[in-house]
Amino acid sequence: MDIQAALLREPKAAFSIETVQLDAPRADEVVVEIVACGLCHTDLSVRDGTIPFPALPNVLGHEGSGVVVAVGSAVRKVSVGDPVALSFASCGACPACEAGTPARCDNFLPANFMGRRADGSCTHHQHGQEINGCFFGQSSFASHALVRERHVVKVPHDVPLELLGPLGCGIQTGAGTILNHLKPQPGSSVVVFGAGAVGLSAVMAASIAGCAAIIAVDVQPARLALARELGATHALHAREEDVLARIKDITGAGADCAVEATGVPEVVAQSIRSVRRGGQVALLGVGRMDAPLPLVLGDLLSGAVIRSVVEGDSVPDTFIPQLIEFYRQGRFPFDRLIQFYDFAQINEAAHDAETGRAIKPVIRMPRSNA
Ligand SMILES: [Zn+2]
Ligand SMILES: [Zn+2]
Repeated sequence: MDIQAALLREPKAAFSIETVQLDAPRADEVVVEIVACGLCHTDLSVRDGTIPFPALPNVLGHEGSGVVVAVGSAVRKVSVGDPVALSFASCGACPACEAGTPARCDNFLPANFMGRRADGSCTHHQHGQEINGCFFGQSSFASHALVRERHVVKVPHDVPLELLGPLGCGIQTGAGTILNHLKPQPGSSVVVFGAGAVGLSAVMAASIAGCAAIIAVDVQPARLALARELGATHALHAREEDVLARIKDITGAGADCAVEATGVPEVVAQSIRSVRRGGQVALLGVGRMDAPLPLVLGDLLSGAVIRSVVEGDSVPDTFIPQLIEFYRQGRFPFDRLIQFYDFAQINEAAHDAETGRAIKPVIRMPRSNA
């Protein structure tokens, strides 16, 4: 079928909205008419070549939500007309997937970044030429996405569908790191470095977990103010305060848990120094992969438990409905992070994400039947 998709043709170029052809669904695939798609920093890292996959031209976008409009012959999980949120791809067959931990899938990189199905076939074409799709199993900067049944999550009808796409990546990354991985005890202390969409989701989740001290660190006063409104008990300006000294003042011996959501080498080092002996550090930020860290051996021998966490260790089929329930209860107001843009404004949305003007841009697609 013909669809409208935002194509990236050259590194660092603007997205261009063009007509491309989308394959018909195979037995285990569904076609989703996209209602809206969040823009995540990983889209920009790929656009700018920091993450050198998938090959160009390609269709990015990996926080889609929409309505199922066609299903393959073996699909049982959803039907035509179901509202769905899309999430990251996992192979479904490796030991991690079989153990129910798809975010640790052995094939996470090829499944999400190769631009093709696992058998190497292309899902998108233009005038007979191959276009790389399958970005995070979806390529949702488009009017329609072709997705394996495995990667769609049916969502309730009574919550605005256009809000729900970011639950599939950035928001579940921050919230899942707290609720699925760190699991802080009620009354404990958490410090969150970086108050963007991921960090602020971690702040809201720490509040749900009952943390007594929730310390947000950033360089933008507006984000620090929002962090306080979303549950942070302390907000530290990284350039104006001695962050480590303040964390020690607030917590005594250092934080129980730290969430690093910037990917800036100096901040990664600071996050490792911010926890008490035996504290936990979760590394989420993606920066330059070859960047050296300003650490000394003593920093790593402090007893801290350091782990990188992907997609918040989430199982989207269970975690996205949980987040929607917290939202309904008023305990997880993630809609406050979102700013909407029309599809034609996708490059403006990307610019606003880069400059920090928007925390979580969400791009609304023109609906064929709207
Ligand atoms: Zn797997
Ligand atoms: Zn993402």
